Amino acid sequence: MSTPGGPVRELTGDERDHLYVLFHDSRGLRVCGCGTPEDAWRLVHDLLEATAATYDADGRFRGWTPEGQHPYDQLCGNPGSASVVCGALEETGLIEHGGSFYGSWLTTEGFIYLDLLRAIGGSDDIGDDTGYPHDGNGCPPGCPLALPWMRAEG
Ligand SMILES: [Zn+2]
Repeated sequence: MSTPGGPVRELTGDERDHLYVLFHDSRGLRVCGCGTPEDAWRLVHDLLEATAATYDADGRFRGWTPEGQHPYDQLCGNPGSASVVCGALEETGLIEHGGSFYGSWLTTEGFIYLDLLRAIGGSDDIGDDTGYPHDGNGCPPGCPLALPWMRAEG
């Protein structure tokens, strides 16, 4: 489901830094650099794409396949894994849900981060010169890439 064909636009350094924090910070998704972290990046991209497609333009729920499955279960392997992974996505502020996590929707920030992941084609190739944005001081008021936990305290 990830964007085929690789990157579609070059991210700014600030965008890459915010993605770095989302995926690797202990308050974010806690993805380690060992193994195949690009699989985690693609999974998150695919889950956000599935979430964006859960409702049509008229707000009607479109989450279930004709076979009665949900893309979350297909992407995560089973409903238990999907529940844990979607809980992590909700904790970071990318998605929200009401009565069931299968009916999750993207937050405003979720749409922004989906756009960033589309730009890099769902890969983790954000370069080696990434780190904490804003000199590690947390996002100031008005930062368009701030997830709630990224904001500067005080
Ligand atoms: Zn920021």
